[in-house]
Amino acid sequence: MTVMRRVVVHPGRIAVEAAEVPVPGTGEALVRTLAAGVCGSDLHAAHGRHPFVPLPYRPGHEVVGIVESVAASAGGASAGGASAGGASAGGFRPGQRVIVEPDLPCWTCKMCTTGRENLCENLQFFGCGYAQGGMAEYFTVAANRLHPVPDVLDDHAAALIEPLSTPVHAVRLAGDVAGRSVAVLGAGTIGLLTLAVLRAHGAGAVVSTDPNLAKRQRAAALGADATIDARSPDVTGQVREALGGSADIVFDCVSVQSSLDQAIGIADKGGTVMVVGVPAREVTVALPIVQDHQIRIQGSATYLPPDYAESADLLRRGAVRTADFVTAVRPLAQVAEAFELASSGQHVKVLVSAGEP
Ligand SMILES: [Zn+2]
Ligand SMILES: [Zn+2]
Repeated sequence: MTVMRRVVVHPGRIAVEAAEVPVPGTGEALVRTLAAGVCGSDLHAAHGRHPFVPLPYRPGHEVVGIVESVAASAGGASAGGASAGGASAGGFRPGQRVIVEPDLPCWTCKMCTTGRENLCENLQFFGCGYAQGGMAEYFTVAANRLHPVPDVLDDHAAALIEPLSTPVHAVRLAGDVAGRSVAVLGAGTIGLLTLAVLRAHGAGAVVSTDPNLAKRQRAAALGADATIDARSPDVTGQVREALGGSADIVFDCVSVQSSLDQAIGIADKGGTVMVVGVPAREVTVALPIVQDHQIRIQGSATYLPPDYAESADLLRRGAVRTADFVTAVRPLAQVAEAFELASSGQHVKVLVSAGEP
């Protein structure tokens, strides 16, 4: 048995524990982790505020690593055509650099069979309430959940593909944003990435809100035309004034009662509210306004392979610059500090690197 380190998030405590290196099953690859991002959802889960992730859990779904070995695909290792050791699974070979698409769909339900596996009715999610996560020296995962990393992208850029794919998906669902007036509520990681994607898609005026001055300054630096303090008494009015009217599309990257109220007020009339942030609890909706003013409220959940492809392309083209987003890296042994930094409001994306002993 070979031993590795892995991160386990317990109530009030983030631990690095010893565990056996997992053995890849049929169709799976064993991956050696290079780096894994701390996500806002990890922070919610660590504080017991994620609606779908009970503690303890094994974090890490924004992962870049190197394929160590691959198991035979369907039929089993002893079956005639399946080769053992060093063979490819799903076209992957040992030594290849990969990222994980962490949705683990069933591939048989209505959503999976209609190309919407992000909405799988039996969805499991690697690194979120699943038996394994990427904040470990090694992990196994179905090889069909891996994507090769283009050589031009370094490890830090590769680790951004997963979080970037969430706003890429949301912007795609919102429809054509070119020339549209847009508000982005929240200038945390997802809000800032949304801003970058909107700029790449040719959005018109974009206004960003956040209670945190440092985050508003980042939003301005990334191209927001105006930034508004989300704690001001009349956020809705200020955003509308900055846009010169209502927003065609509002991206709510916060998803609490006050942000949804603001989003509906900013989209009023006839606009679209994209719910992108993970809500910690239920909120109420001003339904008479939604109906009478014909406001569209659209949820957006994770991503699909085309979103991964676009994210890689945005990074390759420099439309999203890694240095704007990856603001701290800590070794696996200092994962608790990485979570603290990510919670501090002073960082955009904090990575945990597993490449060192
Ligand atoms: Zn995430
Ligand atoms: Zn399914």
